Amino acid sequence: MLSRKQLTLALAGLALSVTAARAVEWKSGIDWKEPRLVTPATEKTAPSDAVVLFNGENMEEWNGGNKWTVENGYGVCGGNVSTKKKFADCQLHLEFATPEKVSGEGQGRGNSGVYFMGKYEVQILDSFENKTYFDGQCASVYKQHPPLVNASRKPGEWQTYDIIFHAPKFRPDGSVHTPATLTVLQNGILVQDHYELLGDTNYDRPPSYTGHKDREAIQLQFHGNPVRFRNIWLRDLSTESSAS
Ligand code: MG
Repeated sequence: MLSRKQLTLALAGLALSVTAARAVEWKSGIDWKEPRLVTPATEKTAPSDAVVLFNGENMEEWNGGNKWTVENGYGVCGGNVSTKKKFADCQLHLEFATPEKVSGEGQGRGNSGVYFMGKYEVQILDSFENKTYFDGQCASVYKQHPPLVNASRKPGEWQTYDIIFHAPKFRPDGSVHTPATLTVLQNGILVQDHYELLGDTNYDRPPSYTGHKDREAIQLQFHGNPVRFRNIWLRDLSTESSAS
């Protein structure tokens, strides 16, 4: 017959062995490659694996950059520009400020835009107390999808876009196999959540897909307003996926 103390000890031992049995580590068995090192961005510098598209000093990375004024570490938009390098899937960071002196209204106030592959626009607009159609306000996928919330700062204040773009994939006959997607954070706030695009983004016709090259330039739009830009960098995710 076990004493009370012996019984308590036996039960404690049993509990320990059950716990130990539960603690056996599960492993997936997948032979993962070690993630490579990337030094993160600071306020003024890009991550170590990024392509710097504009560091506030010159427009060397852009076609049409001679129409911009570069001063005080920023560029003032004075014409459409497109990157000399071509991209597909990417993570883009840029900072912009709509004019401090407010003029115009609706689409006429602080209008610019980021065009991925020259076709798919994330709108830039002064949307601080400035109503326009919702699928055309700042951080909309133009004429397709309004931002989830309006995270716009005041005119003249610097704002950030962090955008993850996945390029569409086309079949050999030019029809779309996988639509493009956009995830956008404006000033750190999620405003587009893996939105699946219906096609390109035009003012005067519905969205549609037309087959194009795997890699195309990124464009910044000039819509007649002197929107300022600084600190533009891009991480090429197509290279990443093709390397893995
Ligand atoms: Mg625009």
